[in-house]
Amino acid sequence: MTAPADLAFVNGAVYTVDPARPRAQAVAVGDGRIVAVGSDDDVRELLGPSTDVIDLKGRMLVPGFQDAHVHPPSSGLEMLRCNLSNAYSLPDYRRIVGEYATTHPEESWILGGGWSMDVFPGGNPPKEALDAVVADRPAYLTSRDGHSAWVNSKALEIAGVSRETPQPEDGVIVRGPGEEVWGTLHEGAVGLVERFLPEDTIDDWIAGLRVAQAYLHSLGITGWQDAIVGVDSSYRTFDAYLRFARDGELTARVIGALWWDRYRDAEQIDDLLAARERGSAGRFAATSVKIMQDGVVENFTAGMLEPYLDADGNPTENRGKSFVDPEKLKAHVTRLDAEGFQVHFHALGERAVREALDAIEQARRTNGMNDLRHHLAHLQVVNPDDVPRFEQLGVVANAQPLWAQNEGQMLNLTIPFLGPERSGWQYPFGSLARAGATLAFGSDWSVSSPNPLEEMHVAVNRTGFPDQTYAPNSETTDDPFLPEEAVDLPTAIEAFTRGSAYVNHLDDVTGSIESGKLADLVVVDRDLFAHPLTELYAAKVELTLIEGERVYATENFA
Ligand SMILES: [Zn+2]
Repeated sequence: MTAPADLAFVNGAVYTVDPARPRAQAVAVGDGRIVAVGSDDDVRELLGPSTDVIDLKGRMLVPGFQDAHVHPPSSGLEMLRCNLSNAYSLPDYRRIVGEYATTHPEESWILGGGWSMDVFPGGNPPKEALDAVVADRPAYLTSRDGHSAWVNSKALEIAGVSRETPQPEDGVIVRGPGEEVWGTLHEGAVGLVERFLPEDTIDDWIAGLRVAQAYLHSLGITGWQDAIVGVDSSYRTFDAYLRFARDGELTARVIGALWWDRYRDAEQIDDLLAARERGSAGRFAATSVKIMQDGVVENFTAGMLEPYLDADGNPTENRGKSFVDPEKLKAHVTRLDAEGFQVHFHALGERAVREALDAIEQARRTNGMNDLRHHLAHLQVVNPDDVPRFEQLGVVANAQPLWAQNEGQMLNLTIPFLGPERSGWQYPFGSLARAGATLAFGSDWSVSSPNPLEEMHVAVNRTGFPDQTYAPNSETTDDPFLPEEAVDLPTAIEAFTRGSAYVNHLDDVTGSIESGKLADLVVVDRDLFAHPLTELYAAKVELTLIEGERVYATENFA
């Protein structure tokens, strides 16, 4: 005779992501694991006097969502600091920065971020706008995508950045009339000021992680891959995770992607190995390495095969960046692969995507096929010739579906500079799925909303939705963006559950609702299949469980 279940969900719309039995009505949980999936009758025999029986009343039960590319410690810190991510105009930015400066007299620097490039002409906010609200102290505010910084005069003065400062190799100091420093720094140029910032302590990172984890749980996220885990003094999130996990605070399952320092060479692999060696505690393990191969399209640092166009549509000389030399990339990836590291690429432009795939191909040729599940994140512009290579090379397409919409950054800062042909190769998630690639979805929060239901809304509709408060921006059209690249709802749910569990090597224990798997489960307020797809964004998570333990509940489940 089996012991009664600890917990049972009945009378629900259970969507399992298990192809053998996609739909069910009831699920029973015992000892943190799923012990039965079936009809209400099937689980009735497992109910005992101590079983907590939850009547779902037709609500949907799905596997816990996992975010395949996210930055919780820094996003959480951003929530705690001067947070511009819920605003979308210069007057609002100035008001928020001014209020923050007034209410935080003890801060020696005004830090924070979340501003949108397309609020400003050319994507470049001026220092004067910040000087007007913070003159007494330096201010350093990162852009929503994290690739640029907006600084005031005091910050430039402290960093010694002036008219005479040469342009760095890997970034841009934006200049105005008379070569005067404008106040916006792109990519590697942010380092000129960043190195003067007060160091974030492990306690700071833990504070960020704590608020981020609670927020992600409230959105149904039970696990993630942290796309930048740092070991050095400027970004010590690695030690923050270890301590957070050892203190028993880490409820989520987390794979950390250790940061590849593009200014160093293969000698850093020894440091990565040493980190991995001491790198696991509780539900955290650092078994991936993040290589950022290019920048972003909006500031013309994404790596392209053909030059960017200028504002008049004529070709420029600029094909964007390859942060790691492509030949060296092949050698590094082959070595990392041989050492058993998963490689997580930032690959956004078509040349970066190709360089990353070429590097993995070289690793496959040298080391043979393996189960490390290398993945390419962002995939903004993918040359059609490269689409089939994901399946062929066993590379996961790590997609941020929220970006695939007609919004201002796309319409004003991207399409004119790529031209029509390449603009049509953006975010080709439908093509990748049809070509047999495994899709994993992630948010890149705090770049954009970490709400999986909002992200899936864009994945299936290729449009934004009303009141996008934490999307690329609010200027969006109703025209679907390359609608043939939409995926259907089962594909979208799978990419956020089984797909991202696969990337994290957690698909044997999570990612679907099957007997024997861990009870990482989410209740959504409605059956998503019974409502129009155009209303997907409005669905809400009401209960989140990890191994049967509640990590988030609305009052309906109090
Ligand atoms: Zn990222």
